[in-house]
Amino acid sequence: MRGELRCPLCGFRTVPSAVPLPCPTCRVPLDYRPDPPAGSTAAGLTGRGVWRYAPFLPTVDPITLGEGGTPLIPSLRIGPRLGVNLLFKVEGTNPTGSFKDRGAAVLVAVLRSFGARAVADDSSGNAGAALAAYAARAGIRAVLYVPAHASGPKLAQIEALGAELVRVPGPRERATDVVREACAKDPDLLYASHNASPYFVAGLTTLAYELGEEGRIPDHVVVPVGGGGLFLGLVQGFAQLRDRGWIGRVPRLHIVQPEACAPLVRAGGGGDPVEPDPRATVAEGARIPRPKRGREVLAALGAVDGDAVMVGEEEILRGQAELAREEGIWVEPTAALAVAALPALIARGTIGPGEEVVLPLTGHGLKAVNPC
Ligand SMILES: *Cc1c(COP(=O)(O)O)cnc(C)c1O
Ligand SMILES: [Zn+2]
Repeated sequence: MRGELRCPLCGFRTVPSAVPLPCPTCRVPLDYRPDPPAGSTAAGLTGRGVWRYAPFLPTVDPITLGEGGTPLIPSLRIGPRLGVNLLFKVEGTNPTGSFKDRGAAVLVAVLRSFGARAVADDSSGNAGAALAAYAARAGIRAVLYVPAHASGPKLAQIEALGAELVRVPGPRERATDVVREACAKDPDLLYASHNASPYFVAGLTTLAYELGEEGRIPDHVVVPVGGGGLFLGLVQGFAQLRDRGWIGRVPRLHIVQPEACAPLVRAGGGGDPVEPDPRATVAEGARIPRPKRGREVLAALGAVDGDAVMVGEEEILRGQAELAREEGIWVEPTAALAVAALPALIARGTIGPGEEVVLPLTGHGLKAVNPC
């Protein structure tokens, strides 16, 4: 496989392997750095969606369900009301209903190329649903370790896609411990670890490539953050586009977390360091109290001149309702974090009048319907 793995903090380098260890010095997950074949240019891209950018991804046999190539749609009411030029990147149109398909397609393809026959992960949410779909497509067994209390449409989706569910009693972190133990015992079972895998983040860089190819690099991108993979994928993608001369400058990227679980916003100086309470927020995708890539997110935030904001539960639900009723786009609450953060970013002068802002709307509203 072309490309290499690199530590984002100290520059340590190594060759790609199926389940890479963290940096031996910094203990953080490694990043994938592509090594495109000579002559790979924007003009030479073919096809649609994630694999259109194959020269800039780990070189493997693609697995596709039609991921990526999502629409970029102008806001008709929220943007004009706030006085900014607002655009939505509608990721709910991905095959399983969230941007996680971009990462899962690449991750499962890489694991298959290393001979994987079974993959495991700890997610009761969109990453689990995406892994289940791509594993099914690849003919690979998927085992998902989920907290015993997990329920709802995402879990139903995971089960429908044929993944094995292992319910783990206790707090969310317990599922991570159990999946590690299971993979250590069974050499056939690879820990896909979407929150730490360089290949998952590599797949997410395609969102930046798509925006870059639209030719309009916005002034700002506002990103809902849980594990931080989407934010890092965007940062890496835009940096690659700039280094290759495809774009002249990179946008400023800002992070948003729910007040109830905002470890990165608080660590970045945006509030008192209170203990996160993941179950106190409707933003399921951001219920990650100790993100594995937290240090990397904070380091990258400085590099892209990013701001960090927290939003309350009412603001999240109001943002979700406004997107649905005023724009016709129904998203799950986690995706509404970005729109909920706009008033604060404008009030503090981070986003100026008339500036162009892209919001990745990360997941479909059907992902989080209340049980009737
Ligand atoms: C996973 C997820 C997020 C957060 O993405 P990270 O890469 O974990 O930071 C945001 N929105 C939705 C809908 C998600 O599923
Ligand atoms: Zn390091």
